Amino acid sequence: MKQIVLKAGREKSMLRRHPWVFSGAIERTHGDPGPGETVLVRSSQGRFLAYAAYSPHSQIRARAWSFQESDTIDARFMAERIRRAVVFRAASSLGPVDGCRLVHGESDGLPGLVADRYGDTVVMQCSSAGAELWRAEFAAALIEFGKCHRVYERSDAEVRRLEGLESRVGVLLGDDPHDSIRICEENITFMVDVRAGQKTGFFLDQRDNRRLVGQAARDRTVLDVFSYTGGFTLAALAGGAARVTTIDSSAEALACARVNLQASGLVNTAVEWLEGDAFGLLRRLFDQGRRFDLVVLDPPKFAPTEKHVARAARAYKDVNLWALRLLRPGGTLFTFSCSGGIDAPLFQSIVAGAALDAGVDARIVARLSASSDHPVALNFPEGDYLKGLALRLS
Ligand code: SAH
Repeated sequence: MKQIVLKAGREKSMLRRHPWVFSGAIERTHGDPGPGETVLVRSSQGRFLAYAAYSPHSQIRARAWSFQESDTIDARFMAERIRRAVVFRAASSLGPVDGCRLVHGESDGLPGLVADRYGDTVVMQCSSAGAELWRAEFAAALIEFGKCHRVYERSDAEVRRLEGLESRVGVLLGDDPHDSIRICEENITFMVDVRAGQKTGFFLDQRDNRRLVGQAARDRTVLDVFSYTGGFTLAALAGGAARVTTIDSSAEALACARVNLQASGLVNTAVEWLEGDAFGLLRRLFDQGRRFDLVVLDPPKFAPTEKHVARAARAYKDVNLWALRLLRPGGTLFTFSCSGGIDAPLFQSIVAGAALDAGVDARIVARLSASSDHPVALNFPEGDYLKGLALRLS
């Protein structure tokens, strides 16, 4: 097997079972491995550290499949990892849900692979050279263990470019999926466009937080900013909100939100749809004297990596500032960041800065994260990408 040998002193993170090997940590590479090829990772002393998938074009030069020397990295190994990931979801307190993340990358021991189940369709996303190499095996195992009839590939995430991979979208196994797939979450119906929707079509990671917003919404006026297909809007309406104002820049997302409203039987509710840039719209609402009891802020990834942190921090501060200004005294803000480059303490300090500038006192009533089908492996803190705060104003 081809090998990479790490520089002396650079094996610490592998010894702690962190799955990434950065290019700068590598002393030498033996045998010119190809994209995704399994390599043996050794310490400078020649000690076995891991089997990993090689990514020749990425700063993350290798991602570990296994830290166990006796393992064989083959189709059976991959199928077993998929089986374990599916069993984990079955054993957690998720209950019977139509929409569920089955595989969450590194945290399920499958770096670069995401698989989301919507009814009997699994949408698979490969974002590393290693995952790309094993895509057929993953698809077969997802059919075998994932209670699904078809696997659709949405390998079109931006990050693939860093790996030197072209985007690829289409049926991998089984027949063509419907244009939109109906899933049910807490008696709310969402139509998921697996072909053209964002990510794999839906934001499953916010399931638990949607429930919390629903519980807090009774008789409240709600502002849902960055709504996508209306997840929080529908949760708030189903929870008895008096009125919801919904903002997103995507006309398609808002059109789908309206369809979801109909499909969920929430037709006689008061919703105001605002299509456009949230930054401008929040200022306009403020200038118009509009105020709300509950605001949800779930912006896109402003900082995909650490490189973008400074600019992203300003954007997060700005939206949080306007959201806080739009809240009535005693109101509640649910604010989120899904940026890998911004950790929970930094996010909290950004929001604290926004509160200071808005001239409001606020208390944290809950710290929020992704739903339990997006587990975070202890050896992979980067998996903790979604952080949120529920704040109550004095
Ligand atoms: N809250 C949603 C997920 C939000 S994803 C849910 O639970 O399903 C982020 C959304 O922000 C996307 O729908 C995207 O269209 C929207 N968006 C991105 N930039 C925006 C901007 N500047 N103004 C308004 N919406 C924006």
